[in-house]
Amino acid sequence: MITRRDFATAGAAAALLAGSGSLGRLAAQQKLTQDKLLAFEPVGQVTLLHFTDIHAQLSPLYFREPSVNLGVGAVKGLPPHITGAALLKKYGLKPGSAEAYALSNVDFARLAASYGRLGGIDRMATAVEAIRAERPGRTLLLDGGDTWQGDYVSLKTRGGSMVEAMNALGVDVMTAHWEFTYGTDRVQEIVEDELKFPFLAGNVRDTEWNEGVFESTQYFERGGLNIAVIGQAFPFTPIANPRHLIENWSFGIREKEIRKTVAAARKKADLVVLLSHNGFDVDRKLASRVDGIDVILTGHTHDALPEAVQVRDTLLVASGSHGKYLSRLDLDVKNRKVAGFRYRLIPLFSDAIAPDPKMKALLDRLRAPHRAVTEKVIGRTDTLLYRRGNFNGTFDDLICNALLEERDAEISLSPGFRWGASLLPGQDISMNDVYNQTAITYPAAYRIKFTGAFLKTVLEDVADNIFNPDPYYQQGGDMVRVGGLNYDIDVGRKIGHRISNMTLMRNGEAIDPAREYTVSGWASVNPDTKGPPIWEVVAGYIGRKKIITQPARGKIRVSGV
Ligand SMILES: [Zn+2]
Repeated sequence: MITRRDFATAGAAAALLAGSGSLGRLAAQQKLTQDKLLAFEPVGQVTLLHFTDIHAQLSPLYFREPSVNLGVGAVKGLPPHITGAALLKKYGLKPGSAEAYALSNVDFARLAASYGRLGGIDRMATAVEAIRAERPGRTLLLDGGDTWQGDYVSLKTRGGSMVEAMNALGVDVMTAHWEFTYGTDRVQEIVEDELKFPFLAGNVRDTEWNEGVFESTQYFERGGLNIAVIGQAFPFTPIANPRHLIENWSFGIREKEIRKTVAAARKKADLVVLLSHNGFDVDRKLASRVDGIDVILTGHTHDALPEAVQVRDTLLVASGSHGKYLSRLDLDVKNRKVAGFRYRLIPLFSDAIAPDPKMKALLDRLRAPHRAVTEKVIGRTDTLLYRRGNFNGTFDDLICNALLEERDAEISLSPGFRWGASLLPGQDISMNDVYNQTAITYPAAYRIKFTGAFLKTVLEDVADNIFNPDPYYQQGGDMVRVGGLNYDIDVGRKIGHRISNMTLMRNGEAIDPAREYTVSGWASVNPDTKGPPIWEVVAGYIGRKKIITQPARGKIRVSGV
């Protein structure tokens, strides 16, 4: 039986870390120690360690969690659609505490100055090794995907740097999404020749023969249990990313096939785990409809939840993103059922956890050939730069302004990606920081004419991908970011009716459906897109401005919440 008491662990651990918020950096740091962060009373036979959506962030970073993450329909007001002060209240986290800093946007810049960065693959390695030493033969390390993409070095090595790092970390199994943007040939080359562990994606099929391209399931013996891990790649990859990069592969949630795969796994396994890149709401719906999955390790939507969410007999874990956290889920399995568990989302405070020397040496070796590019400082920011949130973040505003000015456009569009490190006020901006927001394989910054009517269609389509009340139609990500344009959105309405009051920012004029506007954007899924790479556009803009002052935009009016 899973009881409410099992959920109390995270709260107890958070209390250990509570600080006063007015602490100086040193005092804040002293409260955080590796032993306290990793303290955990083991339960049962097996420990699942999970991270996801690391987006090639191998060094400690600042990453501000969202202030706005709206849930619609049945999930309105449910985790992960609780942010900021409401999230702190929901989980009993003290404002100003270390966990409050890690998990929310509240007072982010000030707390970041006290508590420092999170993550770093060398810190992750230390945590993983410590837990493996404590639970020999009982741990399984699972990577939920969006691992190979997100920085300059991974882009230049076409995922190679990340594959080396993950091999060294001793990952047991992974699934994928952005991995596919390196194209079918490169993905197959890595899976066949470079990766030292299985790449599972049961929902990817060959369009010619309708056969699975990758294995769906892998069995592991741990702690005397036979554990089935089923891999589910991002179902909407050919829509959210360019189809031409993965022409001969088809994707989808494929609920019927999952049901079959789970039933087959149940015949031999004591424990069935879905390693998923569906996104949290999709997985919540899946858990309500498919029997026999004990645990879903969720991914894609970057949610960091300090407690597991239970849906019928399935536990859902949300392990955050960017290497900020390592999830530890201990399971006590009796008669092929989960009889008890303990869960903790471990925040990897990088000043408190000692870097693993071997991983640090590997990281230095991977980075060294690229330092001349990545370490070049091009400017400084006076204000907090972040991306995450349903609507424009300040880093998006910076990118949108760069597109407007450098490409001489009236309106700019920037994709609602959820990845990208934050920068604190006063920080230098390096080329590495620019690539951390832009490093994709289809970076052309286009400049074209859109009619007002077409612009509205674009906003409506994206809004429906995010706010459709049926999670099986949600593709994750956030609303497309806009520059030079204001609009109102009612998230509770249907497609075609959410967006209204579109106006041109520079003069307040209503957008004319028949008029053509000069629009600049990037990350088009169209293979014929022309233009300079977005990082050049953004770097040019920052280099010209030298000092960036980018306050929160606050012009998009949201209703229907
Ligand atoms: Zn993803």
